[in-house]
Amino acid sequence: MKTAVFPGSFDPITLGHYDIIERAVPLFDKLIIAIGQNSQKKYMFPLEKRMEFIRNAVAHFPNVEVDFFENLTVDYCLEKNAQYILRGLRNPADFEFEKAIAHTNRTLARGKLETVFLLTSSGKSFISSGIVREIMSHNGEYQLLVPDSVRI
Ligand code: ADP
Repeated sequence: MKTAVFPGSFDPITLGHYDIIERAVPLFDKLIIAIGQNSQKKYMFPLEKRMEFIRNAVAHFPNVEVDFFENLTVDYCLEKNAQYILRGLRNPADFEFEKAIAHTNRTLARGKLETVFLLTSSGKSFISSGIVREIMSHNGEYQLLVPDSVRI
């Protein structure tokens, strides 16, 4: 069974994330969207809320699960018997950052994990959770950039 983990903060999930999820669904038997929870990090939305937003956005995909982890991404993936890590690429800065992480994860997992990258669809590459949070904090129209499940 081909299992992929899509790790991220998803604070909150955006239409950019959703684009990657929707396009990855047919590529794998199972896709686990996993929130990496870091106790040192400050989030806008608590873990439960971030999970609820994602769950409601992906409820119609039978092969998608939503989960969270607090350990290393590689350890979580191996625990779940996943062979793939899914990441989205928006721009060259994402690529440089993701390249180092993908090589590191492959080394740590002794070659048992491959990172698969999907390029963001045009028109979605400017969206980030950070921009959405900024719009939300100024009462702007964040609804244009997130799935309908995300409401404050
Ligand atoms: P992280 O803190 O791990 O970067 P994010 O929730 O910001 O978590 O992002 C998770 C993944 O989603 C990353 O691979 C990121 O590149 C991707 N991503 C974020 N926004 C977009 C977007 N607009 N289009 C495509 N991929 C995106």
